[in-house]
Amino acid sequence: MVLSANPRPRLEGQHFQVVVIGGGINGVAVARECARGGKRTLLVEQNDFASGVTSRSTRIIHGGLRYLEHGELDLVRESLRERETLLRQRSHLVHPVHFLLLLNENSQRNAMKVRAGLWLYRRLAKNRPHVNTGETEHKQLERALDAGRRWSFFSYEDAQCEFPERLVAEWLTEAVAAGAVVRNHTEALAVDVAHGRIRGVLLRDLIAGRDERVDAGWVINCTGPWADRVCQRSSIHTAQPMLGGVRGSHIVLPRFSSAPNVAVYSEAVDGRPFFVLPWNDQILVGTTEVADGGDPGKTAPSADEIGYLLRSVTQLFPKAKISERDIKYTFAGVRPLPYSPGNRPSAVTRRHIVHDHADDGAKHMLSLIGGKLTTAASLARQCADKMGLTVTEPNAAAVGPGNALDPLLDEAILEIARIGSVSEESARGIVEWHGARAADIARMALVSAELRAPVCPHTSHIVAEVVEAYRREYAVTLGDVLLRRVPVALGACWSESCSREAAVRIGAVLGWDEYAIGSNLEAFEIERTAFLQPVQHHSAALQAAAD
Ligand SMILES: Cc1cc2nc3c(=O)[nH]c(=O)nc-3n(C[C@H](O)[C@H](O)[C@H](O)COP(=O)(O)OP(=O)(O)OC[C@H]3O[C@@H](n4cnc5c(N)ncnc54)[C@H](O)[C@@H]3O)c2cc1C
Repeated sequence: MVLSANPRPRLEGQHFQVVVIGGGINGVAVARECARGGKRTLLVEQNDFASGVTSRSTRIIHGGLRYLEHGELDLVRESLRERETLLRQRSHLVHPVHFLLLLNENSQRNAMKVRAGLWLYRRLAKNRPHVNTGETEHKQLERALDAGRRWSFFSYEDAQCEFPERLVAEWLTEAVAAGAVVRNHTEALAVDVAHGRIRGVLLRDLIAGRDERVDAGWVINCTGPWADRVCQRSSIHTAQPMLGGVRGSHIVLPRFSSAPNVAVYSEAVDGRPFFVLPWNDQILVGTTEVADGGDPGKTAPSADEIGYLLRSVTQLFPKAKISERDIKYTFAGVRPLPYSPGNRPSAVTRRHIVHDHADDGAKHMLSLIGGKLTTAASLARQCADKMGLTVTEPNAAAVGPGNALDPLLDEAILEIARIGSVSEESARGIVEWHGARAADIARMALVSAELRAPVCPHTSHIVAEVVEAYRREYAVTLGDVLLRRVPVALGACWSESCSREAAVRIGAVLGWDEYAIGSNLEAFEIERTAFLQPVQHHSAALQAAAD
């Protein structure tokens, strides 16, 4: 099977009622909302959809227990409602998770207050029953912790979306189904403003290598930590910066022998809250809060942050004897928090803001600042409402299953395995990542052994999923596929040899020659190692941090 590249017809001179700049979770949610509202919508993304902060987050879909500390009750209510909707509509991607909050005798938090906070959190969550973690789980974890301390355990429920990249891919195809035109690898060079009102957007298609101009009725700036830059390039002057970027870093460890099976929320070496989470058959540890005003696309964890996370996880699990050699990779993202000079990063509100640029001389342009994965859909509705579109609030208790196909339903897995003539493991993987699209992918897999082949020998995800990514999900590069649409390269055992094997197997189906395999592979490895940074980059400085 030879696939032609995604067609990218020229956009020059076209009129769009809405141009959304930035294809992270917020931009994709806004484009979907506007297209569903009947607006001719264009979404442009300079790199790939979900390649910004969205894929650099801790991936928790949470009501925001921590916001209770700051008295942001409305935000907690909104987040809990959105969490419920995601759990119902995307049950293949968003799972309920038990969290254990661990405090010891040196904790900065008062146990009574924590208990009261959790009681309130559960009450606000209304319809989510509290499930106690098993006694064995508790005991197991207690044995792994520092025995010299007195630990208090508090359990609560939240959720996790292991792959927000997949959630974005689904919302993207829904936006297109509603009529949106979407373009990744297309940079907005500037917004064209005249006589106090926006008129259009200048674009650079980085694949076709051409500049284009489109007319726009509205421009929605959803560029997350890049939002001020878009305004600067367009000579739109805001009274003060909209953002104060705060970097957050993570380290990824293999599952160590005493690693928790539940999500752990505890205090880092300096008393800040931090997470140790089972994720993607690995352990995700994060995060940090460091002011970062640099290029968000080049942000990376510093040796100090890696040392801090390592010391924090080692302090919690001293018997595991984790060292920097165990770190599989590290990654960081810049939180697009609202500009709050003088505030500690942890005290800055996590509430989103819709900034209207009418007073900045750019009527019909909005910038979305802040927000969470959890609240992207409600932020999109608020934005559409500001534009005068009719918006229907979903009723969390009544929403249907959306695109979900429950991966816990064994009959569904067996059916997909039968349709595609693939192993049960592959069928489960397809259902977990593609929900209701699983049957179509399985039917495609039936066509040939090459399509049924695993992407690399260590994964059960198959080449047919890759073809789906190129065909229906607007993947353009190998990085778009292996890091986001079929994100096997985030896996525990991925290495350069897996990348090579994957490029050969995918190339065989897509008709790539030796040169195409080589150039795709080279570009992919550059992107992979810039995003998922191996720790060797830091080892000298890390040694110093550990000493
Ligand atoms: C360390 C960390 C941990 C987090 N953990 C969680 C969590 O556990 N749960 C949660 O709910 N939230 C979490 N968040 C917050 C969440 O990830 C973000 O709020 C959310 O992803 C922001 O999405 P966005 O679409 O606004 O930004 P982005 O995902 O960054 O999207 C903006 C996009 O705009 C594009 N762009 C920029 N300039 C241009 C241009 N000129 N032309 C075209 N495109 C452009 C960029 O390439 C980028 O893809 C975390 C954030 C961080 C940093």
